Amino acid sequence: MPALVNVNGTIVPPGEARVSVFDRGFLYGDSVYEVVRTYGLAPFELAPHLRRLAASAARIELALPWEAARMAAEVERTLEASRGIDPPDPEAAPWNVGERVARVVVTRGSGDLGLDPDLAADPTVVIFALPLRAPSLRAYREGVAVWPVGRAGGLQRGGDPAAKTGEHLFQVLAVKEARIHGAQEALLLDGAGNVTEGASSNLFAVRAGEVVTPPLAAGILEGVTRGLVLELCRELGVTVREEPIPLGGLAGAAEAFLTSTAREILPVARVGGKDVGDGRPGELTLRLHAAFRRRADELAKKRRS
Ligand code: PMP
Repeated sequence: MPALVNVNGTIVPPGEARVSVFDRGFLYGDSVYEVVRTYGLAPFELAPHLRRLAASAARIELALPWEAARMAAEVERTLEASRGIDPPDPEAAPWNVGERVARVVVTRGSGDLGLDPDLAADPTVVIFALPLRAPSLRAYREGVAVWPVGRAGGLQRGGDPAAKTGEHLFQVLAVKEARIHGAQEALLLDGAGNVTEGASSNLFAVRAGEVVTPPLAAGILEGVTRGLVLELCRELGVTVREEPIPLGGLAGAAEAFLTSTAREILPVARVGGKDVGDGRPGELTLRLHAAFRRRADELAKKRRS
């Protein structure tokens, strides 16, 4: 069964998965979530993802109903049950074929209508286990286009960028705008014209052989993949600067790439319609992705043996 959903501890096919229309996740985006992927069908970096889930929940004062150990066990159990043959995807990068993604969503639960969080008593936990949707092999070979967005539909980014909550209206409209311009990802700008992160990714640039990425203080999510890239840079002896990146500075960078759980390290070929460097994936970007892939492959092999 390639897709399954765990609702409060009960695993069912997607068509049978139900939560109440009074659920505050549905009504108000009053929820937190995480996205974890597998290598060799083993969840990758599950512990840091669950730590971030707990941190996001703490930031919005949502008491998680399960300890990390129970959450990890339920994620593993749901992924395990979802093993199966996926429909073939001829565009997929070969290392992603057959892999899964688990999306963990915890809402404040359901109750009488009203914004007061005390109206709900029992959080809802939903874990989706789905075939992984990741960039195509072509996207890795050619790089992708990104589009800078300051305001989307008249909105500015709101909420707490450090908490992974269900509230995504700005990002939804930003991605819509990016797609209109033929770009795969929206790059979010702050009020000063600096790029902060993608709608669902972190951003890196390469300048004079050094890697530059916005600091956490720029108002970004602390990506698990971002953390791994900082570690890989240290291992490879590459200098990293965590400093603001003005949009103009990005257009003038030699290389740029996005990071996220599903994307790994994805080269950026164009920003706002202009080539980054020579408009091809950069050398250091490819070196970092190769190092990332080695680490993920080790996990996949370990799991298979
Ligand atoms: N920033 C935002 C706003 C995101 O939604 C994501 C995706 N979770 C990321 C960055 C990348 O984080 P990660 O590497 O943990 O997937």
